[in-house]
Amino acid sequence: MAAVAGVAVEPGHWIGGERVGPGSGGTFADVSPIDERTVAEIARGGAGEAEAAVAAARRAFPAWSRTSREERARLLHAIADGVDKRVEELAQVETADNGALVRSHRRGVMPRVAHNFRFFADRLLRLGHEDFDTRGHTNHVSWDPAGVCALITPWNAPLMLATWKIAPALAAGNTVVLKPAEWTPLTASLLAGITAEAGLPDGVFNVVQGYGAEVGGPLTAHPDVKRISFTGSVPTAKAIAAAAAPNLTPLSLELGGKSPLLVFADADLDLAVDLAVEQYDNAGQVCLAATRLLVESSVAGEFTERFLAKAAALRQGDPRDEATDIGPQIHRRHLERVDGFVRRAKDAGARALLGGGPNEKLGGLYYRPTLFTGAPEGAEILTEEVFGPVLTLQTFDTEEQAVAMANGTRFGLAATLATGDPERARRVTSRLVAGTVWVNCFFVRDLRAPFGGARESGMGREGGDWSFDFYCDVKNTVTAPWAR
Ligand code: NAD
Repeated sequence: MAAVAGVAVEPGHWIGGERVGPGSGGTFADVSPIDERTVAEIARGGAGEAEAAVAAARRAFPAWSRTSREERARLLHAIADGVDKRVEELAQVETADNGALVRSHRRGVMPRVAHNFRFFADRLLRLGHEDFDTRGHTNHVSWDPAGVCALITPWNAPLMLATWKIAPALAAGNTVVLKPAEWTPLTASLLAGITAEAGLPDGVFNVVQGYGAEVGGPLTAHPDVKRISFTGSVPTAKAIAAAAAPNLTPLSLELGGKSPLLVFADADLDLAVDLAVEQYDNAGQVCLAATRLLVESSVAGEFTERFLAKAAALRQGDPRDEATDIGPQIHRRHLERVDGFVRRAKDAGARALLGGGPNEKLGGLYYRPTLFTGAPEGAEILTEEVFGPVLTLQTFDTEEQAVAMANGTRFGLAATLATGDPERARRVTSRLVAGTVWVNCFFVRDLRAPFGGARESGMGREGGDWSFDFYCDVKNTVTAPWAR
């Protein structure tokens, strides 16, 4: 047992309703980004733990898949209540583990975790189409649970992203093996305790800890796994797709992005600047972040001036402090990766109008919010996901040019538009390659909406009934008239 932020956390796996300590793989150090101190030694799983967790989930599946919708919904609500009771603990532990702001965890993220469970519980009770008739035959569509689901998640929003998969998978009647990111293993462990207290039967929800290739590899290659839902990077998605291929295991992939923010001259410039500065949230470690600021030439000077003034007022520091706006990068290795992008951008001729290096005053893993201009066309900084507080500024003269620039990467996760012209918004939106488009707003999310990416930003959609479509074998039953 480890104490993190004053909260007791079990550092092992959770398999078949039991805490399972480290096996032959030993442990690995979980380091807090706040001060780079080790907060816990975590069980380092491998093929043995993946096998045990899948076996436990498989054993639990027949009974769980036959429980009534009402019973499953009741249990998901009980889990949500358990999360609500522990919002503060979860917020503190998540902040210690991934360095995101405690104020966001407390007010936004953890309540949203509870909402994930409630939403899919309630949605389950309404799931289903009207039956329909074909020449006197009745068509009835049903959603049959698929079986064991392997869920693999990243470190930037650990519990939020995990529960947005766990909740629909369990609601649909599946059993789950979760593999959280090795940099943020703790809240998954706390969630295991919450599910047990809520009365979820043993083996319905399992957690294996460890490194991606070591435990995630065998998990995603396992023939008894019937769905894989993954959120993370493109290279890992390709490794998972290859592991899943021999079994043709269906995949849902939520991947990276290099999203644009298009600012047209007719936009409310204060709003546009607010939207742009918001892209430094979570120290830039947000898949949806609009990191490419594309601004119409005629307002670029004014926009830049206002942006720099606003960004200069952001407070960087300890994420446990309510006044902090920007915390640290997740890990030394990640900071070095971000810094590599910044150094290469400078070498390529880009000019930093803001930031451009680590925050020397704070030290540790704090990286200064950065804005580049003048990057040459095709430069890496304009095309690759940095996943840090690094934005680029480019200008355009025509709508045509703006759309071409917006669509000019291999990603297609999201796009944001600032414009005062609804007609333009409709025109431009229809031509953007993106899973989500925000017009004069950013990060407004609703679980009823489909979520996912185009191109290399992902495969499939989750949210609303799309989640049930993915986590189920959808069946159509055609019945002939009984009386002929
Ligand atoms: P990552 O791909 O390195 O790791 C994600 C998860 O995959 C971790 O749990 C890791 O252990 C596991 N993993 C690694 N190799 C594996 C393998 N061979 N087999 C199975 N599992 C393996 O990504 P990350 O660095 O944790 O997260 C950052 C990335 O996630 C960014 O690209 C970001 O854009 C993306 N992301 C996307 C969304 C979205 O919804 N589209 C949301 C958040 C983050």
